[in-house]
Parts: sequence; C-alpha cells; structure tokens
Amino acid sequence: MFDLLIQNASLPDGRQQMSVAVKNGKIVEVSPGLNAPAQQNLDAKGQLLSPPFVDAHFHMDATLSYGLPRVNQSGTLLEGIALWGELKPLLTQEALIERALAYCDWAVAKGLLAIRTHVDVCDDRLLAVDALLEVKRQVAPYIDLQLVAFPQDGVLRSLTALANLKRALDKGVDVVGGIPHFERTMSEGAASVRLLCELAAEQGKLVDMHCDESDDPLSRHIETLAFETQRLGLHGRELGIAHFIQHQQHRLTVAPNRVHPTTAWCDQLGAQLPQGHKAYRVPRVQGFPGQTTGQMGFPDAGWPHQDHIGRGFDKV
Ligand SMILES: [Zn+2]
Repeated sequence: MFDLLIQNASLPDGRQQMSVAVKNGKIVEVSPGLNAPAQQNLDAKGQLLSPPFVDAHFHMDATLSYGLPRVNQSGTLLEGIALWGELKPLLTQEALIERALAYCDWAVAKGLLAIRTHVDVCDDRLLAVDALLEVKRQVAPYIDLQLVAFPQDGVLRSLTALANLKRALDKGVDVVGGIPHFERTMSEGAASVRLLCELAAEQGKLVDMHCDESDDPLSRHIETLAFETQRLGLHGRELGIAHFIQHQQHRLTVAPNRVHPTTAWCDQLGAQLPQGHKAYRVPRVQGFPGQTTGQMGFPDAGWPHQDHIGRGFDKV
C-alpha cells in the first residue's frame, strides 16, 4: 500500500492525467491512470504537480512594506534604497516577523519552498537579523530559508557595517553579502569584494553579492568577484550574484584578453542554491571566438532594465 497517491496530475514535462505514488517519503511510481490502495488519496484535477519553486533572491526584511513610510514616487531603485533607509529606524521586531510570516504563507501557497533572502546588517541593533532568524526557525518545517548578511549601505562606506556583518554571521546567518558598486569609489568596491570573499573563505561561508547593479559601464566588480572566487578557491562552493544587470545594458568596449577570462569565470559563477536547487546562470559572453577588435558585447538576455526592476520592487 502506498502512503500517498496523487491522481490526474499534469507534470512539468507536459504529461497529463498522471498518477504519482509515494511511499516512505519517496516517489516510487509515476504512471498514467494508476489505481492502487493508499493511505491518502489526492485528486489533482488536472493541475500542475511539480517540484517546489525556488526564489534565489529576496529581501524579506522589506516585504509587505509598500507605503511604509511612504510610496516610492519616482519608482527608481535609488529612491527604493532611500525609502528603506527612512523605514529602518521605525522597524520593530514584532512587525518584521509578522510581515515575513505573512509572506511565507503566501510563498508556500504558491509552491515556493526554498528562499534565499538578504537581511540588512547596517542597523547596529541587528533588529532585522534577529527577526529573520526567528522567522527561519518558525518556517523550517516547510521552507528552506537561507539568510544573507547584506551591508546595504556598503561594508566600507558604513562605519559599523563590517562589525555588524560579522556579528550577524556569529548569530547564524548563512551567507556573506556585499554591494561593491555602492561603495564610495571603484577601488573601495573592489576592496570590499576582496574583504568579503576572504571573510567567507575564513569562515567557510557562501557568498552572494549584489554586483554591478548600475548603469555605469565601467562598473566591473564582477571581474573582481570572479578573480577572488578563483584565488580563494570559492568556486565549486555555492555562489550567488544578485542584480548582475549592468553588463546587459551596454555594449562594452574592452580588450579581448580581458573578455576571455571573464567568460570562463562567468561559467564558473553559475549560481546554485542549497540542496541542489538550480538557480539562474550568468549569461555567457557571445561572440568572443574570432573577434579581432575590442568591441565585445553581452547578449540581450531578456533581463529587465534597472528602471523596470526599480518599479517592480518598492524597496530593494
Ligand atoms: Zn537585491
């Protein structure tokens, strides 16, 4: 006898009217029209039956905060970040937990069972860190929630961010985050990548950085991240790159000898989520072989423009 028999399911590969039988926590049979005794029967009524969805990038400390303390008038990312700065001093742990748990209910209802969320560590109280650690504990039975220590104001730009980030890791946050394009200078951005990768290597942590989320075609922190990943042997370890937007928007003019290693590095930087969930891969550079001029470009991979992302996220 099966423990669970789901009938009349549509599968992601297009098969319909399928039955899926489960025993001892494992799928033991997938076939059309299976009829066998089971402890529990479910009629999917033709609806989709799929593995759980994965959200590779989220900011759960800002969830459901639309209009708090005011609506983003410009719809831009920069106003979104400024709004988050206005809201931070007004946050309470109770409200953070309540909003995050409400979101998690919605997530589960939509089949989302693995979420990697950033949590801002630039508030010396680490209020959001404590709140999301509590949320992680509460949702653990049904959501694989992973936290990234995210220095929203810049790990070097903000005086206490590095100390706070280390405190967050000590408290149990899983991943080292960063935002190099938000540091005061390009060289400070590169220094922040080096510093954070070294910290991750020391502590055996994962790295997930907001990288080159800028319209500046000279913002090239992805290269530093790729280099540090190789130098410190972080490749092969799970790694995420968030908002890697900028290179999609510009046809870069760069020397071919710089493009080639970047191509190889980007291949190695394909992000993976815990428990083997595949996330997105960084799009490959097209057109390198045979190019004789310095004009190289990243393909239009269909990524939205930064302005659209700004509109989509009230606070990012
Ligand atoms: Zn983000």
